[in-house]
Amino acid sequence: MKIAIAGAGAMGGRFGSMLSTTENPVTFIDLWAQHVQAINAHGLLVHTDHGDERVHVPAYLPQDVHGSFDLIVLFTKAMGIAPMLTALKPVITPQTHILVLGNGIGNIETISRFVPKDQIIAGVTVWSAALNGPGEITMKGDGGVTLEALGSNEAPFFKQVVQVLQDAGLKPTASHDVLAAIWRKAALNSVLNTYCTILDCNIGEFGQLPDHDAMIDGVLSEFSQIAAKQHMHFDAADTKQLIVAQFPDDKNGLHYPSMHQDMAKGRKTEIDFLNGYIAKVGARKHIATPINAMLTALVHSKEKLNELQ
Ligand code: NAD
Repeated sequence: MKIAIAGAGAMGGRFGSMLSTTENPVTFIDLWAQHVQAINAHGLLVHTDHGDERVHVPAYLPQDVHGSFDLIVLFTKAMGIAPMLTALKPVITPQTHILVLGNGIGNIETISRFVPKDQIIAGVTVWSAALNGPGEITMKGDGGVTLEALGSNEAPFFKQVVQVLQDAGLKPTASHDVLAAIWRKAALNSVLNTYCTILDCNIGEFGQLPDHDAMIDGVLSEFSQIAAKQHMHFDAADTKQLIVAQFPDDKNGLHYPSMHQDMAKGRKTEIDFLNGYIAKVGARKHIATPINAMLTALVHSKEKLNELQ
């Protein structure tokens, strides 16, 4: 199976490195020229639980890629999906499947503008990674992938993908309700990423705030209303339990969520695909979502201040 990793940052680097240990040829595709150059010059430097290694996988800018791929694993940020797929149009064929595991709601709709649904495999992952700079990532800890073919989980190609992920040690689980998993993760991120970014704190510190309960409930109750309107399965109580379980130091208490890190680096956040998605649908369907709308505005305001300062 010819595999391209489109968006070879932290997560793309991790998946590409792990997939490159299988017999399937892997190619990195990224828009960041310095990163592409560094990977081609020295290999991707990877810090793992077992030490450091250099992973030698060819890297290309999208406009320099030729041929075609059986599987494109998309790991741009949510707002990078459409630009990346636009750039890759010449190498996407009716046989190419797109696997999307990134955070946020609405990614499937975006990808559907480029390929039919039966060429899309969607999911969530609890693997993590960090991009330290051009050509260097840290990929530590354990994880897993939950995924579903939007065509059919019985399709031979989907089964092959699950086997390849298994061979790479990525611990895949085929699901029949991946949208629920996507919404649950998006709701968790819409609480922890967003509040920790606005309040400039880590997850444990957020959990110690006297008002954290009300802040969580506000976001999740609006998620519930929008999910119900879209006939989506969403369990606010279960999601809250998952959020609270992250507070202890030996869970994720000491961790600053990725949105906090993006903001600190002056990068754009995925807010429009988290709280912003709820606010946008709320406005369209005339459902009041003032909390998610305000949180979206606050994060955009911080992004703007980053630009101005
Ligand atoms: P990332 O920022 O590391 O990489 C995403 C893209 O941004 C890559 O194409 C990368 O090259 C580019 N990029 C990064 N820094 C850049 C810079 N300084 N200049 C130019 N380009 C730059 O993103 P990620 O953490 O791999 O996340 C990808 C998706 O996976 C997102 O949807 C994220 O929410 C999700 N996700 C991330 C993690 C994690 O632990 N990092 C875990 C689960 C899900």
